[in-house]
Amino acid sequence: MKIISNVNELKTYLKKEKKIIGFVPTMGALHDGHLSLIKTARKECELLVVSIFVNPTQFLAGEDLDKYPSRDDADKKICKLAGVDVVFLPQRSDIYGDDEVSLNAPNVRGFVLEGATRPGHFDGVLTVVNKLFNIVNPDNAYFGKKDAQQLNLISLMVKQLFLDVNIVAVDTVRESDGLALSSRNIYLSKEERKEALKISRSLYMASKMVQKKVYDTHEIKKVMSEILEPLEVGYIEILNREFEVLDNIEIGNTIVLVEALVGTTRLLDNIWL
Ligand code: AMP
Repeated sequence: MKIISNVNELKTYLKKEKKIIGFVPTMGALHDGHLSLIKTARKECELLVVSIFVNPTQFLAGEDLDKYPSRDDADKKICKLAGVDVVFLPQRSDIYGDDEVSLNAPNVRGFVLEGATRPGHFDGVLTVVNKLFNIVNPDNAYFGKKDAQQLNLISLMVKQLFLDVNIVAVDTVRESDGLALSSRNIYLSKEERKEALKISRSLYMASKMVQKKVYDTHEIKKVMSEILEPLEVGYIEILNREFEVLDNIEIGNTIVLVEALVGTTRLLDNIWL
């Protein structure tokens, strides 16, 4: 397994190889969620690149950039065991200069949910993913459904900028009790971890209500908010795959999304119905 930090070195290497490239962008602190993306990519591609880069431009002032977990050595081991060919591990100065061109998230889909509470976050995400795509030039790039809005906006960027990459969406990996895996879960105390289960429970309840043919999204959201109490809820939204608000569930075209603060940790989760 190669570990490369330099952009030109990586570009030269990948061009020379002339293989079908799979790409998994991450911010490190790898867990089984990331591993699921890596394993899916490993099966589908000849040359597998994983990037580990805590992208500063997607963190807003006062957010947890400085305390974002960093575990490069453990991450490298995980990648090696999973059969990754190249770990791209750039420094900030490899990716960003002083006076930067950047992308703006679209007005409608970019400024709801996460985009509403974290204005500028998706500008940073799109900018770095676009840069990474230009560096790696992958055939396939793998993203988790867990970050549904990110996945949606990246797919939109690929379409609107006519990028030549196939976006593959991978299902959310959960702990056996339902908690969605996240690099931020390590911040949770024992008590908070228990509280955090209300998030997946509220989503399972939404799914159960739909199975019982309750399609009114307002009714579902009301029950979900009761389950989530007393957590500070950022949003509960029920949207179609185009990220438009639904009054009634459309089976096969619905995403139920929750963001809640558990202690001081913001957690996201969703299910696709
Ligand atoms: P991050 O390192 O948090 O930027 O995540 C890197 C990629 O892993 C993104 O595409 C995430 O959506 C994906 N990911 C994070 N957590 C999970 C999970 N629990 N299940 C599946 N994919 C995930």
